[in-house]
Amino acid sequence: MSQDVMHPPPEDAEARRAIEPVICYPNQTLRAAPLDLYRAARASAQETGRLRIPAREAGCFTLSAGSFFRISCPEGSQVGDLNLFSARNLDEHFFSGKTRALHGSHVSVGDRLWSCLPYLRPMATVVDDSLAWYGVDTHGGRVHDVIGTRCDPYTHHLLQGVDYHQTCHSNLTRALATHLGKPLAEVEGLVHDVLNVFMCTGFTQDTGQYFMKASPARQGDYIEFFAEIDLLGVLSVCPGGDCGQEHSSDAATCWPLEVSIHAPAAGMLDGWYSPAPNRYARRHAPS
Ligand SMILES: [Zn+2]
Repeated sequence: MSQDVMHPPPEDAEARRAIEPVICYPNQTLRAAPLDLYRAARASAQETGRLRIPAREAGCFTLSAGSFFRISCPEGSQVGDLNLFSARNLDEHFFSGKTRALHGSHVSVGDRLWSCLPYLRPMATVVDDSLAWYGVDTHGGRVHDVIGTRCDPYTHHLLQGVDYHQTCHSNLTRALATHLGKPLAEVEGLVHDVLNVFMCTGFTQDTGQYFMKASPARQGDYIEFFAEIDLLGVLSVCPGGDCGQEHSSDAATCWPLEVSIHAPAAGMLDGWYSPAPNRYARRHAPS
């Protein structure tokens, strides 16, 4: 934060700074995820599909509401950038910013991944996280970030003046174009801010800048989600590898990521229903 000599602190500056914060979005009114139900269903589940995504590439996967997907590091520490769409309507996609506002800067077990306006419903729920033990470190770092947007070739060109074509934004664009059978330019606008799985990030205390540090993920670590609606997922294997040094280049060691899909046995989700889109009436005017 820079100090402006034209605007020295007022006499009561410290008193103003000492005001207690309040949570912007108290979330106690959100219906808690029925984790016991999900866990029982998961215990009955059979694997129905598996996708291994090579380093610096992205891949697409689909699954039905009521099934599970696990993202894992099969070989080494690796960050992934996840996009989610409603499989029935690509206009409805993951809303990183509102997920952050509702749950915090990083997600773990019990947190939901919310869809964009005007839908704003849970798309997926985190049901298991082998890195849940990490918590917060002495730098303020946490894992599974919904702060960062995704590495992209435009910011890289802005800062470095060179083109790099395997940023997560481009990887997601290529994979989505292939999956949908459409040109790159047509699908690029569908790519949205991500959930950075396995990424360890925070903000510096002094400058408030976004930082990353080497992911604590190791071979075998995973995060697992319950699909609340029918989903199309797109996952990029970030060129930053464990994001311990730099991204948007071929410099970092990268490992593949794996996605596995698991369907529960019949009857295990009795009483559960897929959430409806948000019920706000959309009048946008008081009368
Ligand atoms: Zn990336």
